[in-house]
Amino acid sequence: MLVRTRGQRWFAAVLLVIQAFAPATAWAADNVRLQLRWLHQFQFAGYYMALEKGFYRDAGLQVEILPGGPGSAKPMAALLADEADFAIANSGVIIARMAGDPVVALAAIMQRSPIVWIVRADSGIYSPHDLDGKRVMLMPEPESSELRITLAHEGIDPKQLQIQHTSFNPQDLIDGKTDAYDGYISNEPFWLRQQGVGYRLIDPHEYGVNFYNDVLITREGLLQERPEQVEAFTQASLAGWRYALEHIEESVQLIHRRFAPDKSLEHLRFEARELKKLIMPELVQLGHMNPGRWQTIAEDYVELGLAQGPVNLEGFIYRGPPKADNGLLYRALAGALAALLLVGGVALRFVHLTHRLRSEIELRRQAEEELRRSNSQLERLANTDRLTGQCSRLKLEDLAHAEIKRAERHDLPLSLAFLDIDHFKSINDQYGHDVGDLVLSGLAQKIKAQLRETDSLCRWGGEEFIILMPHTDLDHARVMAEKFRALLAAEPLVDQIRVTASFGVAQWQPGQGLGELVHCADLMLYRAKKLGRNRVEFFSHSHIQPLV
Ligand code: GH3
Ligand code: MG
Ligand code: MG
Repeated sequence: MLVRTRGQRWFAAVLLVIQAFAPATAWAADNVRLQLRWLHQFQFAGYYMALEKGFYRDAGLQVEILPGGPGSAKPMAALLADEADFAIANSGVIIARMAGDPVVALAAIMQRSPIVWIVRADSGIYSPHDLDGKRVMLMPEPESSELRITLAHEGIDPKQLQIQHTSFNPQDLIDGKTDAYDGYISNEPFWLRQQGVGYRLIDPHEYGVNFYNDVLITREGLLQERPEQVEAFTQASLAGWRYALEHIEESVQLIHRRFAPDKSLEHLRFEARELKKLIMPELVQLGHMNPGRWQTIAEDYVELGLAQGPVNLEGFIYRGPPKADNGLLYRALAGALAALLLVGGVALRFVHLTHRLRSEIELRRQAEEELRRSNSQLERLANTDRLTGQCSRLKLEDLAHAEIKRAERHDLPLSLAFLDIDHFKSINDQYGHDVGDLVLSGLAQKIKAQLRETDSLCRWGGEEFIILMPHTDLDHARVMAEKFRALLAAEPLVDQIRVTASFGVAQWQPGQGLGELVHCADLMLYRAKKLGRNRVEFFSHSHIQPLV
């Protein structure tokens, strides 16, 4: 969508020539306004950098960035009232579209939404189910949709909660005026840490809710009237984002100096780090939007009663410079042909142009093919751990969500073992990092060879692995973990190097998300380490084991 082929560049050049001879058109109206959805902060870094680095200026645009925040214009309303030409919205933009508002999504900056509930560490709240009867903050629709959909997915009626309007003041969580504060993963946690207040997150992503956030939008009318301006703004903004993510410190300094002096450098750096995880620039092309994902989001809104089905995405997702421009292209070619007829070289020139057009088409086809290939390669990379060839953490999260849903629906047992190699640092220290790598992949192979087809082995990080065991209860999972432990301890993995590992095992309980299941297994892993390593400990809900 966002790659420019040579054909498009050539076409842009033709357009420029046409523009040069055209009377004063909308092309000359270069002032555009971008309405943000919150106060100045790193969340909008790409746009500031596009401004600062001259990407907008080079695209012939003069851009004014309007901050949002409590009391200022709502981005969508400002856009529709022609008070802004572009705006940043959340996934809720699809609701407006389905209700007939002429809005178009140009690029999705965050591939995951940062909206979470933040609860105090001492609150006893671990999952959405624990919110029952509690005071829970929520923004009016559609700002809070990720959270409301999470409730719907978990089968919780919002009426069971005492819903409070968001106060925008996380101090309320500290003062005990609310039990769950709705905020941004990239913002309030920093502040709470500074205050020394322990907290936990309830993250919709862990409950299978995958919304885009910070979607760049415009009006359909503007796109029809000034397609080249929309394209130029989109490309320059994405270039700004690319720059901001590659030069985080420079961007942080600039935002602090020019836009958000009230936010400390430390806070902006925290925000940058957290948001980069949601933008995923290494995994997903910046701005990418997947029609299937939008479809699911729209269906979620229909389920919530916020939009009316059936879902129709026609014209909602921007697909680069409009095809209608080809009409102009052919007119330009026809004009060129006539002129050439006059000078007599018509036939030759026509053959030449046709040939060129064909090669442009071929180049575009090749570029699209290349893009398809690199997309599937990216997906493979994201799903596989490079060193061991096993599932990546990202892939395990997907698998586990599906298994949790299945366990819930069919009332099946599901267990998880968390293993960590004992004293692995000393293997690196003694034999070197390369040998350490061989041990990691050797261990993965050995365990993988023993797994059942339905089990999954994932490298969770460093020298930690997770084994997900569907259809398996705690007793059975303990036996499996004990078998793996004994197998590793029995004989050397690489040359004469023998390693042992400690295991924490837990069985999934109804209402738990992946995060809590891993947390239970991790507690047991910690216990296994404390009790001397090379052993299996398991999490029993029936009798609480004292933690060491
Ligand atoms: P413990 O028994 O308490 O788990 O001790 P440990 O030494 O295994 O624990 P620690 O977590 O302190 O050390 C883990 C080490 O794993 C530190 C890090 O250098 C090493 N490590 C992490 N990732 C890799 C990797 O990809 N390759 C290699 N060779 N080493 C790694
Ligand atoms: Mg470790
Ligand atoms: Mg270790």
